[in-house]
Amino acid sequence: MKRTPLKRKTPLRAKTPLQKKRAKPRRKAKRDTVPSLRRKLDRVFSEYIRRRDANHSLSGAAKCCSCYRPFHWTIMDAGHYIKRGKAATRYDERNVHAQCHWCNRFQDGAMPGYTLFLIRRYGPDIIETLYEKSTQEHKWRVTELRAQVAEYKAKLTELDAAT
Ligand SMILES: [Zn+2]
Repeated sequence: MKRTPLKRKTPLRAKTPLQKKRAKPRRKAKRDTVPSLRRKLDRVFSEYIRRRDANHSLSGAAKCCSCYRPFHWTIMDAGHYIKRGKAATRYDERNVHAQCHWCNRFQDGAMPGYTLFLIRRYGPDIIETLYEKSTQEHKWRVTELRAQVAEYKAKLTELDAAT
């Protein structure tokens, strides 16, 4: 019996270029860039700061650096005293502390309380020290950021062991 072949409405052409693309060898890992590393560092640094400030005998609660109200570290922010836009102080541990959402997001950082907290913790020179540092030029480098990501991952592992 003679059979008539089924006719395709659309030609098969589209498959060829796709297959060619797949056949290309893929790069195994994406190359690190300054923005991608900064995003990674933001994440590990923020977790480190909030866990550093949490009191683990109080089931992981941290006191807000501006209003002193306690919240679990997972629902707090890592609040910057000098804003994140200043590169030189963005990852300075003295410039970032566990802060509640209310102070960080709705009170613009609740600066009077934050200033008092810093002076009490580090002494009166801290404001000037951080300010001076924040005015310095800072060029982001892939090698430096990669090292910092590794450093904070290690610090998180240490916290894991301690808690
Ligand atoms: Zn607060």
